[in-house]
Amino acid sequence: MPNVLLLGGTTEASGLAQLLAAHRIPTMLSYAGRTERPRAQPVPVRVGGFGGADGLAAYVRDHRITHLVDATHPFAATMSGNAVAAAAAAAIPLLALTRPAWTAQPGDRWQHVPDIPAAVAALDGPGRRILLALGRMHVAAFTAQPQHRYVLRFVDAPSQAPALPNHALIVDRGPFTVAGDSALMTAHGIDLVVCKNAGGSGAEAKLIAARTLGVPVLMIDRPVLPTRAEVTDPQTVLDWLDHAPAATKRGV
Ligand code: NAP
Repeated sequence: MPNVLLLGGTTEASGLAQLLAAHRIPTMLSYAGRTERPRAQPVPVRVGGFGGADGLAAYVRDHRITHLVDATHPFAATMSGNAVAAAAAAAIPLLALTRPAWTAQPGDRWQHVPDIPAAVAALDGPGRRILLALGRMHVAAFTAQPQHRYVLRFVDAPSQAPALPNHALIVDRGPFTVAGDSALMTAHGIDLVVCKNAGGSGAEAKLIAARTLGVPVLMIDRPVLPTRAEVTDPQTVLDWLDHAPAATKRGV
């Protein structure tokens, strides 16, 4: 019987947890602990970092984990890198459950940048009204461009007000709709959306709204991750659990 460690913090991880619970596959879901009120889950949950790749490998050994599933966010590059290293060190198979990146459609006006510092640099210029759809972790970097009006949308109310001098804060964990995001962008006079290429349907509404309204998007491309086996369908993870050897000398 597999004993799965599922690295979560995403809708995909929650969906997979449901599936694994329905199939009575022993699973521990792991959260970093960034969200104050994570969704209730049908499998046991642990919270907090492991202490790097070595800590994760030790956790795998100590808890007799047989299979590691990385369903973290596409921008959780440190965790995903640690997962690759730890699976190799502990000689267990690793599979990533991820979502395809968004691609520009006709009508989209996207400018691509490789990372957050490049996004901040690209905002050099006259003041604009920006929907900064990044989550609270990266907002402080944008204090370097204080001339803009920023509209922020966070999952939780922050304990400290964001440092940006001119901002509006909306607390909402979604799901978001095209109609809702169009109304928000119109109400705030948004003339630029800044976001990460998270992919998936949950956060896509703002891009469709931007396309419809003719608003340009500054798209932060995904970080490059080490090579690993990846799937996008949770059902495929079940098939993999049936077939992947519980221990291997080289990982998947
Ligand atoms: P990160 O930069 O890759 O990870 C930083 C550290 O946080 C990791 O080294 C690890 O600490 C700990 N960590 C991350 N994910 C963890 C997990 N699932 N379980 C236990 N520890 C975890 O990650 P991040 O970008 O800060 O994201 C943190 C969490 O938020 C992830 O679970 C991710 O799925 C979720 N999330 C991220 C984004 C985003 O845009 N980055 C968006 C939505 C959700 P140790 O080294 O001590 O193990």
